[in-house]
Amino acid sequence: MVVIDNVSRCFSIDGGKTRVRALNNVSNHIGRGEVVVIIGPSGSGKSTLLRTLNGLESIDEGSITIDGVSLSDKKTCMNKLRTEVGMVFQHFNLFENKTCLENIVLPQVVVLKRDRKEAEKVARQLLEKVGIPDREKNYPRQLSGGQQQRVAIARALAMQPKMMLFDEATSALDPETVSGVLNLMKQLARDGMTMAVVTHEMGFAREVADRVIFMDGGEIVEEGNPDAFFDSPQSSRARQFLEQII
Ligand code: ADP
Ligand code: MG
Repeated sequence: MVVIDNVSRCFSIDGGKTRVRALNNVSNHIGRGEVVVIIGPSGSGKSTLLRTLNGLESIDEGSITIDGVSLSDKKTCMNKLRTEVGMVFQHFNLFENKTCLENIVLPQVVVLKRDRKEAEKVARQLLEKVGIPDREKNYPRQLSGGQQQRVAIARALAMQPKMMLFDEATSALDPETVSGVLNLMKQLARDGMTMAVVTHEMGFAREVADRVIFMDGGEIVEEGNPDAFFDSPQSSRARQFLEQII
């Protein structure tokens, strides 16, 4: 479903004096229904890779196609792509001055041009699905971080995406709300959603991932099925990383 072919992305920093190669010749495929967990040290390019998949970040070299559609083709509509590839961030990025229901209704009405009644029906079904059916009238600040993240997930699902990207979706949450959000992500995976997940939750990676990708220095250093990867990482960089975090 996703073909990433020799993708590179550089950033200029210090007013152009230094160039950082955030992605360096990255190639990979993600199959429909596959759950890929991306791990690696800070600054290794994980977020940049996810962001290129829904066009939040452009690429300098290489190509990405999703369901046969090339993202660098000028005819590709980025707004449509962003409905098809939903993204959930560490900081939920909800509209603070809108209720939970409205946060889920608005993008449906604005982007998908869905009728408001229909959008509200979808939003209520999704609030039920993500486990907070009684919170539709609340504003984000009236919810815990875990509940806000559930709203953000519901908002992405309302667009009926083909694929979901999660960038450290539980890193900003209080410990007691982490497992609820991880369980929701597990449920999505079981329902067959294609997912690319950047996380530090190694238990989740082992249990849910079909494949683990380890990145360092803008490259995919190693990948494999989770048991093989965690039990016997092949590269010294992956071994070092796992020793530090486990
Ligand atoms: P990770 O998510 O693995 O921590 P990132 O993809 O965020 O890594 O970043 C990879 C590298 O690219 C880092 O060196 C980071 O500082 C740099 N980088 C990412 N985004 C930008 C940007 N918009 N401008 C400049 N440098 C960036
Ligand atoms: Mg990141």
